[in-house]
Amino acid sequence: MIQLQNLHKEYRAGKHSIPALTGINMNIEKGEIFGVIGHSGAGKSTLIRCINLLERPTSGKVIVDGVDLTSLDARSLQEQRRYMGMIFQHFNLLSSATVAENVAFPLELAKRPKVEIRRKVNELLALVGLEAHQDKYPAQLSGGQKQRVGIARALANDPKVLLCDEATSALDPQTTNSILTLLLDINKKLHITIVLITHEMHVIRSICDRVGVIDGGKIVEMGKVADVFLKP
Ligand code: ADP
Ligand code: ADP
Repeated sequence: MIQLQNLHKEYRAGKHSIPALTGINMNIEKGEIFGVIGHSGAGKSTLIRCINLLERPTSGKVIVDGVDLTSLDARSLQEQRRYMGMIFQHFNLLSSATVAENVAFPLELAKRPKVEIRRKVNELLALVGLEAHQDKYPAQLSGGQKQRVGIARALANDPKVLLCDEATSALDPQTTNSILTLLLDINKKLHITIVLITHEMHVIRSICDRVGVIDGGKIVEMGKVADVFLKP
């Protein structure tokens, strides 16, 4: 579903360049939950942001469902991005919009008919268990509820891929587990490929099929979770 080929990313800082990714190669299969783990500064965030080209790689290819995103013009890229949802550590919700409005937002951007938006928002709120909270504002929600809104919004355009950028790092352990359970449920029910980055081993252990270990901008190990992390 996702192929990263010889991906390099350098950030410019004045006359210096900071290498963040130095030759990433990986294939993420359709339907799997793939985790990337590494220490702070290892390149996780850069890597996941290169998958939807929020960050443009310096060189290399990003092929999603057969399309090389690095070759697209702005308009085609915007279209392809609809098929990739993303959730964030700090949720990135619109604070002046209600739960329902936050979830409706990507559908409005896609200019879907009002009736369809209403139906889809209801369906998504039911999926994440927030029907009773649809008229609340983000400030009235717990962290876990905010991330549920983030997930519903990310799924609005029926993506093939869900990218999770440290999605549980701001949550307590119990809430983390409830969000991970929801992600697993979404993966199974909707057959969505999930890529997540985390610095927490237990996140990888609890829901990932495969894992890549990133260090200094390189994948230093990759395989089934049980094979990479043999020890309990
Ligand atoms: P992680 O998510 O694993 O903490 P990042 O992808 O954020 O790692 O960072 C990888 C490297 O790139 C680090 O050395 C970091 O300092 C650098 N970096 C990240 N973002 C930027 C940026 N916008 N400008 C300059 N350097 C950056
Ligand atoms: P928190 O612990 O921060 O409240 P959770 O992620 O545990 O966050 O739950 C968020 C909301 O979703 C709560 O209102 C909870 O009642 C509801 N909820 C949790 N799990 C489910 C579920 N499986 N089905 C429906 N609603 C749920």
